[in-house]
Amino acid sequence: MVEKYDALIVGAGPAGVAAAITTAKAGMSTAIIERGDFAGSKNMFGGIVYTKPTAQIVPEFWKTAPIERRVIEYQYWLLSQDSHVEVAHRNQKFVRDFNAFTALRARFDKWFSQQAEAAGATLITRTTATGVLKNSDGRINGISTDRGDLAGDVVIACDGVNSLISKGAGLHEEWKPEDIALAVKETYALPKEKIEDRFNVRGDEGVTIMIYGGRSEEYAGFIYTNKDTISFGMGAIMSDLAANKTRPQDILEWLKSHPSIKPLIEGAALREYTAHLIPEGGYDKIPPLYTDGMMVAGDAAMLVNALNWEGTNFAMISGKYAGQTAAEAKKANNYSAEGLSTYRKYLEDCFVLKDLKKFRDVPHYISTNKQFLTMYPELMNDVFYKFFEVDGRPKEEHLKEIKDEIYSKRGRLGILKDIYGLYRRAA
Ligand SMILES: Cc1cc2nc3c(=O)[nH]c(=O)nc-3n(C[C@H](O)[C@H](O)[C@H](O)COP(=O)(O)OP(=O)(O)OC[C@H]3O[C@@H](n4cnc5c(N)ncnc54)[C@H](O)[C@@H]3O)c2cc1C
Repeated sequence: MVEKYDALIVGAGPAGVAAAITTAKAGMSTAIIERGDFAGSKNMFGGIVYTKPTAQIVPEFWKTAPIERRVIEYQYWLLSQDSHVEVAHRNQKFVRDFNAFTALRARFDKWFSQQAEAAGATLITRTTATGVLKNSDGRINGISTDRGDLAGDVVIACDGVNSLISKGAGLHEEWKPEDIALAVKETYALPKEKIEDRFNVRGDEGVTIMIYGGRSEEYAGFIYTNKDTISFGMGAIMSDLAANKTRPQDILEWLKSHPSIKPLIEGAALREYTAHLIPEGGYDKIPPLYTDGMMVAGDAAMLVNALNWEGTNFAMISGKYAGQTAAEAKKANNYSAEGLSTYRKYLEDCFVLKDLKKFRDVPHYISTNKQFLTMYPELMNDVFYKFFEVDGRPKEEHLKEIKDEIYSKRGRLGILKDIYGLYRRAA
């Protein structure tokens, strides 16, 4: 006899757990299928999670959740070979009403999945979903796993970037290398006091640093402060890595030896090295979000804002709306694609599809105009160096050199074109 649930959710990441909390709270019998030993055990992310979306799922979560640090400062670094220009925003408002917090997902996801269990969902771990089951009309009504089949009125695929379930349901093929970033991350142990000194924070305050430039390839680096560890890593689009014949480890090693970065991790003990994919195809690559008997949420549906590395909030809120749609479908006893179509409408009415649609052309524009992440960081460093240099020559000469440098690197027309191109796509 196959076990049956109202809602079968595949994957206990932020999307799956948010969906499960929503369906369980709506009174649906709910199972979450997770391949790991526990939720989060397969997750390598050490990054930031956003407060308001999390509070929509678990109000006042900060009272019990394993938060590493409250982010009070966001930094952007533009590197050259041996220098960096930095834009930073630190705000005391982030101390009181924190906007985001750093988390280690092995801890956070475990806690988050316990909230789903407390809401009534059943968490089935060490079980890998291998495909979908369909009834005679072709409607999805369950999943196959490596430990047997499970039946469900509705399936919500939240199984991350390599979603076997949405591919199995025929919603999309393998993602293309130009739509996927490969991210590598190292975790370094560093005593709490050293983190406070090096990053100028106190108590549970934390800092995030996004890093660009200094190399001929495009990449985005990151440093996140945790309680007594630092998450340090980088990501780059797979097709770019292949075209440049670069391995992510090469970029990571280069970053580690950069004079601006080295002192931040010096003396810290490497605890962990991991790699993971991030779906960055944007709005135009989002696959169908629902079909008869099934919805897809989070990374499995390519719902990531690559511009700001926002993925957890997209996962949680898409999971929540998939759960809400499932509860409405149960009331109407209509699990057909037409019955589940409100899911997309919910996402269109909130930041999930609004943001992805608004910035749909930006990632492609930046990746086909390499100067943004290669030449401009270099130029900014040169300009600031010349601006601050005191060498006995009149400032007028410095300014002339700065102007000459700017125009020789890109030309007036090129710079105007770049500004206008970005403005047209992002403003
Ligand atoms: C290095 C790195 C840094 C990042 N930094 C940030 C950041 O700072 N802020 C941010 O918002 N986002 C960040 N992201 C993106 C973010 O991690 C994802 O967008 C988010 O985790 C997506 O959640 P999800 O629930 O859709 O998928 P996932 O978190 O990938 O969860 C999927 C779950 O499904 C399970 N699973 C997979 N296949 C199966 C199967 N067949 N059967 C059963 N279970 C299965 C997995 O074990 C996993 O638990 C980062 C990503 C990486 C790689």
